Amino acid sequence: MKKVLLLLWQLPQSIIGFICVAFWCIVTSEYYYVTLNGTAIFLFDKFPSWIWGISFGTIAGVEKVKYTSSGIKTNIVSWETVTNIMGHELGYATQSKILGPVYLIAILLQHVTIWIPYEKRFMEAWANKIGIKVTCGYNGKAFKIVN
Ligand SMILES: [Zn+2]
Repeated sequence: MKKVLLLLWQLPQSIIGFICVAFWCIVTSEYYYVTLNGTAIFLFDKFPSWIWGISFGTIAGVEKVKYTSSGIKTNIVSWETVTNIMGHELGYATQSKILGPVYLIAILLQHVTIWIPYEKRFMEAWANKIGIKVTCGYNGKAFKIVN
């Protein structure tokens, strides 16, 4: 019962997440997903350049980012960066559980309050704070949450 109520509570944002992720699965054929903490995280080979990750309800999408620590583009996926983004997106998933449909308004506000530095915006800072540490075994397989 509690699970059903939580699903309903997050339904509006989960529907948006489903539409975004399904659209991107059609656009790019390179994807797979893992389930962590009740959230289906889709890993995409490529995202539009201005997105590294999205999170809506029980669905998230993360780019397999190919950057070195100094920000240079390479052909090798930085799994450390990817797992950091995954952990951050799981922070949003927790926010969604707490806020329910209000999550969408909060995320909208985060994207229109452009006079505040991005990392200082409420939802961003909160997601960083409550983000979950994720690791992966090798080459993007065997993802798990670090307790
Ligand atoms: Zn963020």
